[in-house]
Amino acid sequence: MIARLRRAYRRMRLGTRLALGLGALSLVVFAVVGTALTTYMRDYLSAQLDTQLAQAQIAQSKSIADYGTLSGKKYYSWFYAVYDVSEDGTPVLRRPEDPVDLPKDVDDFTSLARAQTAAHTELLRTEHLRGAGSYRLRACQVEPGVVLVSAAPLEDIEDTVGQLITIQVVTFALALLALVVFGRRMLRRGLKPLSDMASTAHGIASHDLTESAARLPLRADGRDGGPEVDELRTAFNTMLEHIDDSLAVRAEAEQRLRRFVADASHELRTPLMSVRGYADLFQYAAANAPEERDRHLARLRAEAARMGILLDDLLLLARLDAAEVDAPLRLQDADLVELVGQAADAFRAGRPDHPLTVLAGPGPVRLAMDPLRIRQVVDNLLTNAAVHTPAGTKVSVEVAVAPGAAEVRVADTGPGIPPDDRARVFDRFYRVDKARSRDRGGSGLGLAVAQSLVRAHGGRIELTSEPGATVFTVRLPVKDGRPTDR
Ligand code: ATP
Ligand code: MG
Repeated sequence: MIARLRRAYRRMRLGTRLALGLGALSLVVFAVVGTALTTYMRDYLSAQLDTQLAQAQIAQSKSIADYGTLSGKKYYSWFYAVYDVSEDGTPVLRRPEDPVDLPKDVDDFTSLARAQTAAHTELLRTEHLRGAGSYRLRACQVEPGVVLVSAAPLEDIEDTVGQLITIQVVTFALALLALVVFGRRMLRRGLKPLSDMASTAHGIASHDLTESAARLPLRADGRDGGPEVDELRTAFNTMLEHIDDSLAVRAEAEQRLRRFVADASHELRTPLMSVRGYADLFQYAAANAPEERDRHLARLRAEAARMGILLDDLLLLARLDAAEVDAPLRLQDADLVELVGQAADAFRAGRPDHPLTVLAGPGPVRLAMDPLRIRQVVDNLLTNAAVHTPAGTKVSVEVAVAPGAAEVRVADTGPGIPPDDRARVFDRFYRVDKARSRDRGGSGLGLAVAQSLVRAHGGRIELTSEPGATVFTVRLPVKDGRPTDR
């Protein structure tokens, strides 16, 4: 039974539970207040009756002493008895003037008169008189040897107290009922924002979060509920916003990865097809045209080399992407000016149709870096300046020192990069003009690799471009303040 009640209680809504708790508490309060009120009322009325008895007896004692008879004020349904007390202390009942003054059974009166005689003082007692009900008895001495016993009915007091109890029970019960019913309604209304929030959470639970790019359309709204509920709602919405953002970031990363894999396989397929084609040609030439053989073999090698470069780039990017950012770098103290000088020499040798200017201070600019990787960055930028511009375009490379950083600026006077593409040229496999760039052997990884490498060094790479002035600026941080420029 108790277990069943407990289970039912657990299944109750919070509002109902609180209302019931409030009801139980009120019941205790009502009981205490009711008991106190009733006790006080009964005591008050009893005291009043005692006073009334004493006052009546004073008047009647006077009448007995003066006239020897029981006259004076009499009350309806009161009883009176006058006893003569003999010398041995036995009270003898006087004949009453009015027989209505005496109850049917006078034993209690006689015993009180005897007790009064023994005690020599007024006595009060509550007795149940047979056939008359509860009475308050009072005995006092009128004069030596005469004792007056009066009795007042307690019925009125009991009636009044009974009525008081009835009124209290009824009003308290009504108040309790109202409290539970309205309290429950009010609590439910107060708790409604919380249940709304719960249904929002349910809505989210039934939402398919695995769909990539799906945003959570749900938020807890409304204003009512007070500051606590408001706080909870704000926290709830902030949490949803956070989850939403994280999901979006994850979805985007996933999509980027997918695109990357698709692009990578696509890019690898091209040289692979060429390798296959040249292998077939080589086989054919070996049998039919031996003079063509070396040419096909050279092309086959070139394609394989291109594939190798592509794979190297991919591997490098993957390693830089992995958490171990510093792992692929072998940092050492090196001179940036010297490194740029070597790159410039190689460029001049390889690209004679692009005049190159080197601008650098007189002294070395030393900083901690992986020289091979930074050389790769500079080479990529210089190669782009040569590959994506017409022959004769002037190219310049400059080493400069900025506060806390060393800068390498590679500029060319070529046609530039359209504004829409500027933000995307650093994306993997992104080429402004796909077909033409690929003809030039580009896979669109050069700038992505450069950016990843510079970032791994803690630096950044920036691009400004307009027709006739395309500038890539590589900014490398210098750990201990300024790079040495002596
Ligand atoms: P890869 O470098 O992998 O051989 P790529 O040169 O095409 O191929 P990125 O170096 O990443 O790839 O360059 C991306 C694109 O940005 C190029 O395809 C080209 O369209 C454009 N670009 C880069 N540098 C310049 C430049 N100096 N002038 C004009 N366009 C440029
Ligand atoms: Mg390139």
